[in-house]
Amino acid sequence: MTSYATVIIPVPLKQYFTYSFDSKTQNVTEGVRVKVPFGKRQVIGFVVETTSSHPEVTYEIKPISSIVDKQPLFGRNETDLALWMEKFYLCSRGEAIGTMIPSGKRDSSIPTLESDYEEAEQITPTSEQQAAIDEILSGRHRSIYLFGITGSGKTEIFLRTAESVIAKGKQVIYLVPEITLTHQLARIVARRFEGKVAILHSAMTPAQRIKEWRRIKHGDVSLVIGARSAVFAPCDDLGLIIIDEEHENSYKSGSSPRYHARQIAQRRASVSDAMLLMGSATPSLESYQMAKNPDKLYMIRLRNRVSGGHLPSIQVVNILGQRGILSPVLKQQMDSTINDGRQVILFMNRRGYNYSFHCNSCGFVLQCPHCAVNLTYHKSDHAFVCHYCGYHSPLVSACPECHSLDVSYSGFGTEKIEQEVKQTFPDARTVRLDTDIAKERDAISTIIDGFRLGEYDILLGTQMVAKGLNFPNLSLVGIVLADSTLNIPDFRSAERTFSLIVQVSGRSGRYDDKGKVIIQTTKPDSPAISYAVSGKIDEFYEQELETRKLTAFPPFTRLVQLVFRGKNEEKVRQTASFVGEVFAQSIKKYRKPDELLEMLGPSECPIAKVAQNFRHQILIRGENPSRVHTLISRVVQTLNPVSGIYLEIDFDPLALL
Ligand code: ADP
Ligand code: ZN
Ligand code: ZN
Repeated sequence: MTSYATVIIPVPLKQYFTYSFDSKTQNVTEGVRVKVPFGKRQVIGFVVETTSSHPEVTYEIKPISSIVDKQPLFGRNETDLALWMEKFYLCSRGEAIGTMIPSGKRDSSIPTLESDYEEAEQITPTSEQQAAIDEILSGRHRSIYLFGITGSGKTEIFLRTAESVIAKGKQVIYLVPEITLTHQLARIVARRFEGKVAILHSAMTPAQRIKEWRRIKHGDVSLVIGARSAVFAPCDDLGLIIIDEEHENSYKSGSSPRYHARQIAQRRASVSDAMLLMGSATPSLESYQMAKNPDKLYMIRLRNRVSGGHLPSIQVVNILGQRGILSPVLKQQMDSTINDGRQVILFMNRRGYNYSFHCNSCGFVLQCPHCAVNLTYHKSDHAFVCHYCGYHSPLVSACPECHSLDVSYSGFGTEKIEQEVKQTFPDARTVRLDTDIAKERDAISTIIDGFRLGEYDILLGTQMVAKGLNFPNLSLVGIVLADSTLNIPDFRSAERTFSLIVQVSGRSGRYDDKGKVIIQTTKPDSPAISYAVSGKIDEFYEQELETRKLTAFPPFTRLVQLVFRGKNEEKVRQTASFVGEVFAQSIKKYRKPDELLEMLGPSECPIAKVAQNFRHQILIRGENPSRVHTLISRVVQTLNPVSGIYLEIDFDPLALL
């Protein structure tokens, strides 16, 4: 008998599609994936409904080619969330559901959690922790923020809250910003929640992820641990969502739909009547501001380290005009730390060897031919590499422009630091961790575990080493160049520098009072650095909020970035300028007297070209978040697609680059 299925297809069209199937021979139900013809291609579709009555559609209904899943993979909750995302991010429901559900087709086995790691010690909460737990479990607040200094024992509070929610038969999603942290956490929870834990992150294969997804959907899992995309885990009895290190940028998706896990979590918590529990030592400015209204977000402060130890002492070294990367102060501290049998972490947020290659005769700077960014010299690859599109170019010794031999390199990254460290400390065991290294299978966990077990003296790396990790024997942290985040031309650069210093410093001396931090910079007086050094956390937030208010940036306005890109520069410019005109007209009509609602641009993006695509942008901002959304949604609805031009809309962008 012929039946019909309503199907979501991961394409940019905001509609359902109907296909037919034979209900006698084909077991098509709500929640399974099917293979269907779409134009000339075969694509995977998501069945949201089936019916036996002939639907009214204007196109010819084609039959489903094959069925992918035996058991449903999603249900009403997921479909509703996809429809909400379509409205909220102005993407299509197909793009939304394609983002939510892992693409694996068949299951594949996943490594079991290593519960044989050291026996978890029995932890008795401190009085400060206990007070926080009591407040959280009192049921008085639906959204809570644990604002606690590094080492204040937030993890234990999260886990006890999770235990209590699970004991009531509900499910918990526990988000961490980095894959490295899922490993650390997985080990801690393996014992506590035997067998009822699932892990979801992007370093797993799609087949591994789909296996975990099925276990969750089937109700076999009480606790889901994972990075950003785990916020979509198909828990039908959701009781709690935890977001650890809430301030981290990795919670925001870098591709369309550009969702933020915090926004999805807020939505899911409100729909499922679940609790939302976030935490950090450096909240995002958005959360800090929101918590000024405790009915919206209730903030709990933790002011003591569980170890009783103090925060590490921080020393700032002005390296203006210095030769070499490591200052005498830093070298001397590294030396004595290693001699004491303790460990060192060096942090630098740039990888590669040198940052720029330029000609001293004609001023030429080597850039990627496809992107408007400098190429970085990678010594181990014997190549110049573009960090935006991956372009590799062979080395040159003379200026490609004027053939002068008077050329030089400037700036440095992790690779060069590694070389200098190894030269200065030939007997120390040094290891580097950045995305170049992390390409190798299991490199991250091998290095992190090795460092924890004392196989290395010095760990140097990028962001990856900065986040939430615990190393008992670590006593010196060096921030090799704090300027590198500070100098990014973006309204969040001070916030990011501040949180980076506080977070990285927090890794040091967690278990005793010997922790030391050295910050190298040429700008010791910038507020982000001086407030972080003096530990004046609230003072930093208040003055940064003041700045944002004066400059009309978030959290005082809602900001939306529309990026037009395409290979034809003139067409990109014209499209942006046309849409800019439409916005200008609409704002004139829509804006209330005295309302802050405005357009900035159109203009070239700060990074004007990426992977052969020219980029222009329009920024819209306004004081009323939902009116900003309505305006954009209305304007975008009226736009006709222009061939060869892509429009990417980023609601609440993290950076305007
Ligand atoms: P943070 O607040 O920075 O996230 P963590 O949760 O990582 O801090 O805790 C830091 C360390 O303190 C961990 O190794 C944890 O096991 C330990 N810890 C947490 N609570 C207690 C406690 N009440 N007694 C002893 N150790 C604790
Ligand atoms: Zn030249
Ligand atoms: Zn490039």
